[in-house]
Amino acid sequence: MSDKGYFGPYGGRYVPEVLRRAVEEIEAAFEEAQQDSSFQKELMRLQKEFIGRPTPLLYAENSSRFLKGADIYIKMEGLAHTGAHKINNAMGQALLAKRMGKTRVIAETGAGQHGLATAAACAKLGLDCTIYMGAVDVDRQQPNVATMELFGAHVVPVHTGSRTLKDAINEAFRDWAASFVDTFYIIGSALGPSPYPDMVRTFQSVIGFEVRAQLAERQLTPDALVACVGGGSNAIGFFAPYLDTEIPRLIGVEAGGRGPAPGDHAARMTGDGARTGIVHGYKSRFLLTEDGQVAPTHSISAGLDYPGIGPQLAALGRSGRIEFRRAGDQEALEALQFFARHEGVVFALESAHAGAAAIALARSLPRGKVVVVNMSGRGDKDLFITAPYFRPTEWAAFLRRELEALQNKEALRRQAPAGPEVHYG
Ligand SMILES: *Cc1c(COP(=O)(O)O)cnc(C)c1O
Repeated sequence: MSDKGYFGPYGGRYVPEVLRRAVEEIEAAFEEAQQDSSFQKELMRLQKEFIGRPTPLLYAENSSRFLKGADIYIKMEGLAHTGAHKINNAMGQALLAKRMGKTRVIAETGAGQHGLATAAACAKLGLDCTIYMGAVDVDRQQPNVATMELFGAHVVPVHTGSRTLKDAINEAFRDWAASFVDTFYIIGSALGPSPYPDMVRTFQSVIGFEVRAQLAERQLTPDALVACVGGGSNAIGFFAPYLDTEIPRLIGVEAGGRGPAPGDHAARMTGDGARTGIVHGYKSRFLLTEDGQVAPTHSISAGLDYPGIGPQLAALGRSGRIEFRRAGDQEALEALQFFARHEGVVFALESAHAGAAAIALARSLPRGKVVVVNMSGRGDKDLFITAPYFRPTEWAAFLRRELEALQNKEALRRQAPAGPEVHYG
């Protein structure tokens, strides 16, 4: 789909000379794997047995009735193993790494969702796994760090720069430049140097092809698809079967955050805060400061605050095939409550941005039209953000009691002699 790694003016392969061979090697291996039925068969087996595919397509009948507009369908991607779509890509790339004879995988992670998916895929395939994570993110995302370590991954806190995702990506590239002989870098969204955007879209397109089959089974044709856009992997995978058609409308939703002021949002396609730049190995639209540095962003959802956007989405936004909207923190929280109340489904905060746009769209369309929203993840992971928001007093009291109980246990343990130890071989 991409011509020498470009999507219109965006994309490309901006890597230091030492990494040229590494990305060329991946490009060749990926092309071969695409033609190899045994690779495809093994990936399909893992999608079914490990990831839990196909994920359901749920008719949101109560919501649709309440809104008195179009029929909303929810692609339940959050039911995939590890709770989001990220595992589709992590498993695809991990399987490719193994096929290439690599023994070690590295990845970057922000909130920890891609790290979690990569660590799980590596545990399953027997690959050594190192996850780079900004020190600030390590501190605030302890539940995900604990699970990554449970999967056997080494989580490396990054102390440079703002000590967040962009610094973790830089550190992962640094590692890779010295290690690519035995190491594969699994990038977590549809971005980075070519061929990553093509590869990530391909592995995520399982979402869109399932939706197309699930709609056909019910003899439905979609009028609009709605997805949230961080780096853009769930959106491009969901939209993939429809990119060359005119219908359905494809709608990408960015994080409007607290408002339009610089630093308060992560809107790269709507508004006027973004510029063309080259960051992390590709050309696209980025939120940059006056002097060309990556600018600070904000979103209530950890997965939508990346300052760039995948090059193919940027190009399709420019050509008009994909419409971009934004939803703010508050709208996302309201959409999350709406679908929980009406459908018994808790959206991840990222996905709730798409949910908010789907609600608005369904309201504006007549009955009988079909809107499909991708619930890219489920909301369990957001408990530490949503609980303090929805039930501040009770949550604070709960945390205080938990901490007290933990400290009491610790004090007792220090007094008493050690109990019997448990060994697992
Ligand atoms: C990471 C994440 C996103 C954003 O990433 P994309 O590459 O834009 O899909 C969206 N939803 C969930 C649940 C995520 O974990």
